[in-house]
Amino acid sequence: MISHVLPTYNRAPIAFERGEGAWAIATDGSRYLDLGSGIAVNVLGHANPDLVAALTEQAGRIWHVSNLYQIPQQEKLADLLVERTFADTVFFTNSGTEAAELAIKMVRKYWDHAGDPDRIEILTFEGAFHGRSTGAIAAAGSEKMVKGFGPLMPGFRQLPWGDMGALKEAITRATAAVMLEPVQGEGGIRPIADEDLRQIRALCDQTGALLVLDEVQCGMGRTGRLFAHEYAGIAPDIMMVAKGIGGGFPLGAVLATEEAAAGMIAGTHGSTYGGNPLACAVGARVMEIVADDAFLAEVNRKSALFRQKLEGLVASHPEIFEGVRGQGLMLGLKCRAAPADLVKEGYAQHILTVPAADNTLRLLPPLNISDEDIAEAVARLDRAAASLDA
Ligand SMILES: *Cc1c(COP(=O)(O)O)cnc(C)c1O
Repeated sequence: MISHVLPTYNRAPIAFERGEGAWAIATDGSRYLDLGSGIAVNVLGHANPDLVAALTEQAGRIWHVSNLYQIPQQEKLADLLVERTFADTVFFTNSGTEAAELAIKMVRKYWDHAGDPDRIEILTFEGAFHGRSTGAIAAAGSEKMVKGFGPLMPGFRQLPWGDMGALKEAITRATAAVMLEPVQGEGGIRPIADEDLRQIRALCDQTGALLVLDEVQCGMGRTGRLFAHEYAGIAPDIMMVAKGIGGGFPLGAVLATEEAAAGMIAGTHGSTYGGNPLACAVGARVMEIVADDAFLAEVNRKSALFRQKLEGLVASHPEIFEGVRGQGLMLGLKCRAAPADLVKEGYAQHILTVPAADNTLRLLPPLNISDEDIAEAVARLDRAAASLDA
């Protein structure tokens, strides 16, 4: 008999009822060191007092109003995002998938508005993940996600990841946009080289194609910059954000330049919940804390410490690990076999990690994890690897 919850997930037999910082406490009272952060969501850890205060203060006033009215909390968060990024304007969603949908719609509208409505082809990359809606699975195109869900939305073409030759060949004056994650998350913590991202920007400029960056997983301080593309010194035309932006409250956003958003006039898009007062009150607090140079410098310092310890872990288990990859606190351990076994051994050692494609184990701690918890995490990973080694 089918479970009452639609069985689309292979769930571990653990339930958490409480959290404190980098620790999640299960219903049996046992404490797990959480290096998954709900998949890069809980950027400030569990039950962060600043976020709890922002949420409860707002909850005592008003939860929800329609986008038919002014929403000051939304305007505040939009101001904070515009101030710190390339963007001139922001639309708020409840998830990364919804952000991807709007980004795709915005690209189509841009070319329609420019009098070129047939210019619809968006170039994407193998290993990409943009969400699970019909548009987002068509964009990513992987067999696993699209099988049985056709016919797919037309207008996407996947290129090999990081293959600049293939991109140069594919991009033309008929290309609507190029869409990619600066660091592929689900694809296995695979960063694009800064030089390649600069070249993609240049190819977009030469052809007029829009550059759409999906920073749903790698954004919001995760890589040690507020947004990962800052490392390359370029700016996109459109960017999707979600996961970390709400610190655990469902929230996403599409950021765009005034030009890219030109066709998105009143009535062209909407959302009942998107940008509601609760979500935006929390999101603004997250931005105030994370978009701070001193905070981001700490992320980078912790990243260096963590990486150094992880290199040691790789050296002591060469049969299990191949190396460390990633940026900031978006780290991956490239494994010699499927990382699912390590995730499982991790449960036995009370540490939470997340598998990804390309045999990569993802480590996505809260960005404010302590040095002691980093050391503890590596000790637990070492024990998990040792039990696999045995
Ligand atoms: C998680 C993710 C999404 C989808 O976000 P949801 O909030 O799950 O809809 C899109 N793009 C990237 C890069 C992601 O990591």
